[in-house]
Amino acid sequence: MFKNIYEIRIESIGGFGANLVGKMLGELGAIYLNLEAQSFASYGSEKRGSPVKSYIRYSKNEIRVNAPIKEPDLLAIFKLDLIEKENVLAGIKKDCSVVINSSLSFDEIVEKGKIPSCNLYVIDGLKIAIENKARLNIVMFGAILKAMGFVDIKDGEKVIKDVVGKKYPKSLESNLKAFKTGFESVKLYKIENENCVREYKELRGYVNCEIGGVNSSFGNSITNDLQGCREGFLPKYIREKCIDCGFCDSTCPDMVFQFKNGVNLGMDLYHCKGCLRCVEICPTNALVEAKEGESYDNIGNIYLLNKDFDFDKVGESGWIDSESYNNN
Ligand code: SF4
Ligand code: SF4
Repeated sequence: MFKNIYEIRIESIGGFGANLVGKMLGELGAIYLNLEAQSFASYGSEKRGSPVKSYIRYSKNEIRVNAPIKEPDLLAIFKLDLIEKENVLAGIKKDCSVVINSSLSFDEIVEKGKIPSCNLYVIDGLKIAIENKARLNIVMFGAILKAMGFVDIKDGEKVIKDVVGKKYPKSLESNLKAFKTGFESVKLYKIENENCVREYKELRGYVNCEIGGVNSSFGNSITNDLQGCREGFLPKYIREKCIDCGFCDSTCPDMVFQFKNGVNLGMDLYHCKGCLRCVEICPTNALVEAKEGESYDNIGNIYLLNKDFDFDKVGESGWIDSESYNNN
């Protein structure tokens, strides 16, 4: 167990369920670990794809502080890409446990994230979630509990039964399995290097906010960079099966499909948030689900290289002018 107080910070993206994990950790502490527990989240614009933080505090005494956690004992990062966009590693100490969801190897993660000294726990959470037909946050809940080191797996299962079992009894079994796999398969690596200190920036809106209040992180309508919104999937387009019916274009909420003279030229994936509604609606299976990072080398504007596109008029550099409604 810990000495007096134990603090957890979760860095995630709106839509990934980090807030729920925060609440589950709060319930775990208060009900099953017999501790004083606190859990709250901080949202930016509350839009799917925007950065989200969740804070959890355990204490053996009354908790009288209600501030964001600057120097966590455990930091969980639900999507590795956040490291490149936000200072999510801020405030971690040498003995901090850092749990990262990624399909990359340990070396690749350390290089990509320039991770300072810590106990690094790595898990391919999405893979486990897919295999068990569960959600990523439940796998991460398991990995976090393992990294905490003082929680019995059975107490975690009780929380899942309380939270998932009551609301979604049919998916309880798969969630319990995903949780257990997350708990058992997260791998620990020790990192020791000089690149040790990351300064924590106070979260004061009027000080930190960029000029004009624009949120320039991913998942916003200013840069239209929706890659942060995706939970790991993209649609893949198979031209040979396409009958140019236009259903995908009228279904897609982000105008990803590019039509010209009634012909589907493909997708501008830079704007795709991975909801896969187009895959559901396509009558000929010309659109299929593909795992992000496996099916494409480059997930931004790949089809804009199509010679039939008028680059100035489509994609991020201009208004998208869809003509699919002319398709007879
Ligand atoms: S819904 Fe499918 S078949 Fe119809 S235009 Fe889109 S990709 Fe082609
Ligand atoms: S998954 Fe399909 S419907 Fe959803 S944003 Fe991407 S292209 Fe559009």
